[in-house]
Amino acid sequence: MESMEPTAETVRKIVAGEPVGENEERRLLICPWCDSGDVEKISEYGPHLMVYSYICRECHSPFEVIKR
Ligand SMILES: [Zn+2]
Repeated sequence: MESMEPTAETVRKIVAGEPVGENEERRLLICPWCDSGDVEKISEYGPHLMVYSYICRECHSPFEVIKR
């Protein structure tokens, strides 16, 4: 059984800004609104401790990434 989705561990590393192994698919953070990859982390600790807050430089919409 194969999945195109990265593993939970890979997602955790990406969100944490850690390098991932070359055999692990790296998914760049993209804006959920306009699919732009030009996003900026605006807070290590958002309104909730379990999320990172990002803002899209393209459409200026904030969004959150759930920590693993
Ligand atoms: Zn956007």
